[in-house]
Amino acid sequence: MKKLSLNENFICRIWEDSSNYSGLKTNEGLKVGIIDLGKRNNDAGPDYIGSKIKIGGQIMTGSVEIHRTMDDWFMHNHGSDRKYNDLILHVVLYNDLYSENKRAVVSSERVVPTVVLSDFLTRSIHEIWKDIINKPSESFKLPCFPANMEIHFEDKAGFVKRLGLERLKLKSEKFRERIYELKKFRKDESNPEQAFFEYLCEALGYSKNKQQFIALSRKIEIERVKELDLSAADTEALMFGLSGFLSDRTSEDEYSDDLFERWTRIRRLLKKEEMFRSEWNFFRLRPPNFPTLRIAYASAVLHELVMNDFYGRMRNEFEESKDILKSMTGLFHEVKISRYWKDHYSFGKRSQRENKGIGEDRIKDIISNVIFPMMYFTASDTGNGNLMNKVEYFYRNNRQKAPVNEVSKVMQEQLGISSVNPAVEQGLIHLHKFFCVKGKCSSCSIGRIVFGEEGVHEPLKIIIY
Ligand code: SF4
Repeated sequence: MKKLSLNENFICRIWEDSSNYSGLKTNEGLKVGIIDLGKRNNDAGPDYIGSKIKIGGQIMTGSVEIHRTMDDWFMHNHGSDRKYNDLILHVVLYNDLYSENKRAVVSSERVVPTVVLSDFLTRSIHEIWKDIINKPSESFKLPCFPANMEIHFEDKAGFVKRLGLERLKLKSEKFRERIYELKKFRKDESNPEQAFFEYLCEALGYSKNKQQFIALSRKIEIERVKELDLSAADTEALMFGLSGFLSDRTSEDEYSDDLFERWTRIRRLLKKEEMFRSEWNFFRLRPPNFPTLRIAYASAVLHELVMNDFYGRMRNEFEESKDILKSMTGLFHEVKISRYWKDHYSFGKRSQRENKGIGEDRIKDIISNVIFPMMYFTASDTGNGNLMNKVEYFYRNNRQKAPVNEVSKVMQEQLGISSVNPAVEQGLIHLHKFFCVKGKCSSCSIGRIVFGEEGVHEPLKIIIY
């Protein structure tokens, strides 16, 4: 396993969410069950105090210490520090070769059992890491906060807007690459539509089902769907069939029987491999965000793309619009999910309220991450200066309500900049992802002012998540 350089604060976030691991055991093979995590200690001494943990059948109360590897125990000299005498458990993220046979011993000469967390993770450490950085806690703190509040607002905002534009170019470049890739392998005329559909699906997957939606959308060839001349119900059968929900049905009703029959017929014509139902994530999602509802919406968009030139309408709407947010919201709300999904959030599961396709936050996300990059690409590809000016103008000036993205929410608070338009919101996300997370404070305009010419030293680069 590749060892990510995670700090202790990050490992504490992993420890505090028990869904990240299961079947914990100490190095001696004793079962570990957490009854109470205890309280996080921000003073000197162990990381958690008042923890209650069952180890090898015995309930113990005391403190817990978190480290990246066993080696840290010795480097920090905890063995001679009396504050660690009531330690009941030592948790390390990784095993290390140098201290394989060493054990954590407190100053009263008692051996403290150690758990190597990475042996019991329920997902890859990369997935957990991504989840944590995208969901900052209430204690999120940038190394430059609060000193950055002294910097002139225009200096910070100018830098963030520039990054927002960089992000737009980067995303539009990805759009270009995908179109060229499609041109190479699929010699059809629907490449921009195909790429648009794939990026739209990616945005519908959000963080929990992003990869699954990308995989699903790449199984669908718009040109082939056009040839098959599918009805709205057939298109839904195609999407749910390919995603694996029909071959592995958890409930049977008239609707899913009908979809299954349609899928059996379409499958013979397509000869595509299905995904597995189990690949889709429902865990910790609110029903309106369930992948089943999102697939229903993606099916409706696919049908509109194939039958009613949704892509062309969207481009025209953009070029003629005076308020992108308003006109795109109207367009995406016109796409209607089928009757069944209006009162179901999963197969056989009725919803309390009427489902309406996708909400405004998701549409806003699609505008920022799909429509702006796509129109930027179209303008540069066709050399359309007017369109390019329009894209940049709206990107910088289209006023929007509070951000939906968790990262931009905390970033705007820590930098004193409101993400009032897409350029600022995307700039804040870009700053976090490519500068703050990577500890590149010395290359950041804000960092250069806060930390001066000397730059920021390694221990201070740590972001509190
Ligand atoms: S990269 Fe810039 S904004 Fe981010 S923590 Fe460092 S100085 Fe602050």
